[in-house]
Amino acid sequence: MKHEPTLPGAVIGVLGSGQLGRMFAMQARRLGYRVHTLSPESDTPTGQISDVEINAAYDDLDAVRAFATEVDVVTIEFENIPAATLETIAEIVPVHPSAHVLHTTQQRIREKTFLTRAGFPLTLFREVRNDTELHHAVAELGCPSVLKTAGWGYDGKGQRKINALDEAARLYAELGAGDAVLEAFIDFEREISVVAARAHDGMTVNFGVVENHHRHHILDYTLAPAELAPELERRAVEIATSVLEELKVVGVLCVEMFVTKDGKLLINELAPRPHNSGHWTLDACVTSQFEQQLRAVCGLPLGSTEKLCAAAMVNLLGDAWAGGEPDWQAVCNMPNVKLHLYGKHAAREGRKMGHLTALAPASNDAKAARRALEQARHARRLWQRSS
Ligand code: AMP
Repeated sequence: MKHEPTLPGAVIGVLGSGQLGRMFAMQARRLGYRVHTLSPESDTPTGQISDVEINAAYDDLDAVRAFATEVDVVTIEFENIPAATLETIAEIVPVHPSAHVLHTTQQRIREKTFLTRAGFPLTLFREVRNDTELHHAVAELGCPSVLKTAGWGYDGKGQRKINALDEAARLYAELGAGDAVLEAFIDFEREISVVAARAHDGMTVNFGVVENHHRHHILDYTLAPAELAPELERRAVEIATSVLEELKVVGVLCVEMFVTKDGKLLINELAPRPHNSGHWTLDACVTSQFEQQLRAVCGLPLGSTEKLCAAAMVNLLGDAWAGGEPDWQAVCNMPNVKLHLYGKHAAREGRKMGHLTALAPASNDAKAARRALEQARHARRLWQRSS
């Protein structure tokens, strides 16, 4: 089917108002689009960059309809948007990713069921809906295992590691005892992800494989590229591309994977939107993940994902503000380090406030990414020192 592209000058609607929407809106405005955002908050990271910021609940369907009538196409920056909201919008203007994609990926049981049926490799898991199922699941998968709420989990929220059968019920109760999944604990060799995009016409592109390191379940840093055997790299890209094709996503999607000690790849989770492990693309690629999302959503041809140089990204969390303002100048003194701040007012512990990307000009391999990481971490230490 031929789609008429949504061209610069048109209005893009964004559901959600965090940093992902902000970086998307910056790219949209650079290309001459106007941006309207809808979320339950005001003076938000995305709203600060938008032409119009609408303050309404996602399930306020009257407000959602009014928002949709003012825009040409809608996208999301946050996956916990009710499917009914997307369906309401789709009656008025195109929305990408679709309600179907969101419905599948916003709940772990549905996401894992989809991946299993489609034959993708993933962490061994059991569905848990009550104490009896939990008991059976822990007995089957053994300890340690990881219990995760089926919905609303991110950055490690809604997760507990179970080390012994007799603590399972208590940990389940702590998570609210609702729908959940129990996963076998993977003593992985490393964590990787592939950010990829799919256009209206089915064309896919990807940003290659990156390596991710978490602290307290929150992404700490990303190395681009990952240090990985070429065969595994090829396989990871193949898996990610197939996921986009199976789901018929229009837009960007990130596939997070574990590399096991015996060299297997297991999908951990999907995010149907630009992802924290793709932030480095803003500074190091011909087309960033955010511009790619814009192009896909607007029905424009996808841009080149060519990596201009190796890079490393480190997150800046709210914890660093505990002792006062960080030392901005120290960071700006480093010529190959790029500072990104999200315009958030309250610097709470664990809250993503910004990130730093260090570039390794004229180098493109994993060793250069490691060198860039040293710079990024040094910059982060300097930045925190005065706090
Ligand atoms: P998630 O919210 O599912 O992406 O989990 C956040 C982080 O927790 C992951 O990036 C891993 O570092 C860790 N994690 C999650 N699930 C498992 C698992 N089954 N085995 C080992 N580590 C895990």
